[in-house]
Amino acid sequence: MSKSFRSNESRTILAAKLLLFIALVYTLIPLPVKSSSTISPSHFDAVRAFTYAKEAVAFGERPSGSAANLKLRQWILADLKPLGGQLSTDDFTGHTPTGPLEMENIILKFPGTSGRSIAVTGHFDSKKIPMVHFLGANDGGSSTGFLLEFARVAAHMPHQDDLYIVFFDGEEAIGEWSQTDSVYGSRHLASKWASDGTLAHLTALINVDMIGDKDLDVMNDGNSAKYLRDKTLAIAARLGYGAYFHKEPAGIDDDHMPFAEAGVNVLDLIDFNYGPNNAYWHQASDTMDKLSAHSLQVVGDVVVALVEDLDSQKK
Ligand SMILES: [Zn+2]
Repeated sequence: MSKSFRSNESRTILAAKLLLFIALVYTLIPLPVKSSSTISPSHFDAVRAFTYAKEAVAFGERPSGSAANLKLRQWILADLKPLGGQLSTDDFTGHTPTGPLEMENIILKFPGTSGRSIAVTGHFDSKKIPMVHFLGANDGGSSTGFLLEFARVAAHMPHQDDLYIVFFDGEEAIGEWSQTDSVYGSRHLASKWASDGTLAHLTALINVDMIGDKDLDVMNDGNSAKYLRDKTLAIAARLGYGAYFHKEPAGIDDDHMPFAEAGVNVLDLIDFNYGPNNAYWHQASDTMDKLSAHSLQVVGDVVVALVEDLDSQKK
């Protein structure tokens, strides 16, 4: 149908009818409400976290000191920069069994007003395993993706405490895991923050590792502060995620330990049951197809709720 067949008079009537129709529509249909939780910028978007993890893994094997590790760091920094806050790097030399390695933690801080601080941490390096094309989708990739998305959430989250998001380098041992050959980045930062006074204000450090496993079951780490573990279980139950979290405690060594040893209240959220009998751990089979956005959503929702809860604490 073409408009050219209509007379001027019928056009005027049509225009009037159209206006009346528009007026009716505006009266009858409420305008969309903007405060839906699904579109809130402080909602943890696990699809985005999963995509970040996939992009990080696409850098290939990225052990500390490698060219891929450096490229990944540059990519993380470029992603964090637009979020605002105080972005810095913490460069240091890791004294490894095979010699010195240049390493770098990445730190994003959103300053608060309370004089207290909370840190959410994880590692971005992947383990160098001779003769194995180890991509570390879950072990290194999931924590990288998680932290990038958490950083975006933190940028929009109302908070009184300083919020730190820390990407650790050198979590993996160069040879066999030991006290001196592992967690290079977190050992360095715990010591640095002890010297400069930052540690004294840190009320909690929440570390995530291997939290992308499709078949998610997060440890109740006995080395972590009991009250943080209890809070985590309570929040998980409240959110309907209770089944993904172990009730029985068992201890694990991870990036939280140097801070635990320095007296900080720490929490390590790790699923150390990756594949049948942990068969995908440190194997070429640690690839993106073993991960799910849903698992990242579970841990993301719990960590966001936990940080919100801790932030209001008057300790
Ligand atoms: Zn590992």
